[in-house]
Formats: sequence, C-alpha cells, structure tokens
Amino acid sequence: MNAPSCTQTAVLILLGPPGAGKGTQSRALERAFGLIQLSTGDMLRAAVKAGTPAGKAAKAVMEAGGLVSDEIVLGVLAERMSQPDTGRGVILDGFPRTLAQAEALDDLLALRGQCVGAVVSMEVDDETMVARVAGRFTCATCGEGYHETLKPAKMAGTCDICGGTDFTRRADDNAETARARLATYRQQTAPLIGHYEQTGVLMRLDAMQDIAAVSRDLVRMVEPVIRKGRSGGM
Ligand code: ADP
Ligand code: ADP
Ligand code: ZN
Repeated sequence: MNAPSCTQTAVLILLGPPGAGKGTQSRALERAFGLIQLSTGDMLRAAVKAGTPAGKAAKAVMEAGGLVSDEIVLGVLAERMSQPDTGRGVILDGFPRTLAQAEALDDLLALRGQCVGAVVSMEVDDETMVARVAGRFTCATCGEGYHETLKPAKMAGTCDICGGTDFTRRADDNAETARARLATYRQQTAPLIGHYEQTGVLMRLDAMQDIAAVSRDLVRMVEPVIRKGRSGGM
C-alpha cells in the first residue's frame, strides 16, 4: 500500500514549553494565512468555565500544572476538528503533548486524508519562559495576548485589536505553577521533538528573539507548507 497521501489542508503544530509564544504566533499565522488556531488549552479553559463534565475533570489538573487525560483532550479536539472551518488548514497550539496524543492525531487526520505538514519546535530558556508566563494577560473580548512589559497594549487598558477594556489572567500563570508546567513539558512533551524529527517534519525555531523576528522566521518556515497544501500537493 502506498503511504497515505495528504491533500489540500495544511496541518501545522507549534510545539514548545509554556511561554514559548505558541498562542501569540498562532494568532499571527491565523491572520496572515486564514488558518484556524486550535488551542487545546483554550478549549479546556472554556470547558472549565462552562462547567461541562470534561471541564470539571480537567480543572484541578490544570491548576496543578499537570496534563489533562488524553481521552478528555482528544474528545474536545475531535469535536472542534469536526467543524467545517478547519478545512482551511489548522495550527495546533499546545497539542499534541504526549506520544499517545501524537498517534491519535495521525489517526484522526488519516480519516480526513490529511497528515502533519510541519512541526515547529519553539525553543526558549527556562527563565525566559517563567518571566513570559508570569507577566501574561489576555483580552477577555477577543483573546489577544499581552505582556506587562514585553508586549503592553499600545494604549494602556485598551486592546489593540478589538478596543475591548476587559482583561483576564490565567489561574495557572504564576511562577510556581509555571515551573510545574515546565517540568511536565520536559517529561511528557519534549520527547515529541525526537518523534517528529524521525518522521522528517520537525523545524527548530529560536523563540528567544522578539515577537516580530520570531514571526518572520516562522512564516519563512511554514509558508512553503501552506502553499503546497493549497495547491493539493502535500
Ligand atoms: P504560549 O502560548 O506558548 O504559552 P504566549 O504566546 O501566550 O505563549 O506568550 C507568553 C507571553 O509572552 C505573552 O504574554 C506574550 O505576549 C509574550 N511573548 C510571546 N512571544 C514573545 C517574544 N518572542 N518575546 C517577548 N514576549 C513574548
Ligand atoms: P501554555 O500556553 O502555557 O502552553 P495551554 O493553554 O496550552 O498552556 O494549556 C494550559 C493547561 O491545559 C496545561 O497546563 C494542561 O493542564 C492543559 N492542556 C492543554 N493542552 C493539553 C493537552 N494537549 N494535553 C493535556 N493537557 C493539556
Ligand atoms: Zn481584544
């Protein structure tokens, strides 16, 4: 049997520890290329807020900086992937985080005649990661991400993107939980770097640079994959 042929849709994965800039760069790619950002963290936070069974099961694990069960995460992701807008191409932000999730993703994509087009490993050092997470806040209206010192709003108190004036901070964005999340990343998620290196789709990105420089490098890396996907040649 031939290797599965992957058609049309770009499937990109941003891999990196908390604070690497996955959310920031996913949103930039979404705006630049019309792809859809799929953040399992955002989906789980929405489930916690809505008080669904998945959200109730996930809440304490998320507050402790551990990983929510593969079963729950795959459930929320598969449901979102079943919506038609994902046909435009997706950026997976924060998924997969375990080898089992990576395998389940391959199965889910195979059913759609798709496969992973590129995995970008966003590399930052530990102190940077903690500092980025500790100063992070988000527009409550449109979800745009900010940082107290590294990316303040142009006009203090007003979102650059939507003009909203309500902002939120994540319960897990404190230095202590950030360190727990980093340990979880090293143990359970970092092995995916080797996994995707073996499958030939891994690219490494210096995510210590400023946001614009990271964007520039990222676009250079993923643009050929997106174009190839759109021309049906993946
Ligand atoms: P992740 O989704 O990987 O956890 P975010 O994109 O939310 O990371 O970024 C974490 C914090 O760091 C946010 O406050 C964001 O504004 C800021 N940030 C993101 N990328 C950079 C960068 N390259 N340089 C400085 N600050 C950044
Ligand atoms: P960050 O932006 O800091 O990398 P996320 O928003 O992606 O964090 O995730 C927040 C939390 O949600 C994680 O610490 C974890 O508890 C849970 N989570 C998100 N995605 C997954 C996943 N793919 N598998 C297991 N748990 C997840
Ligand atoms: Zn906004």
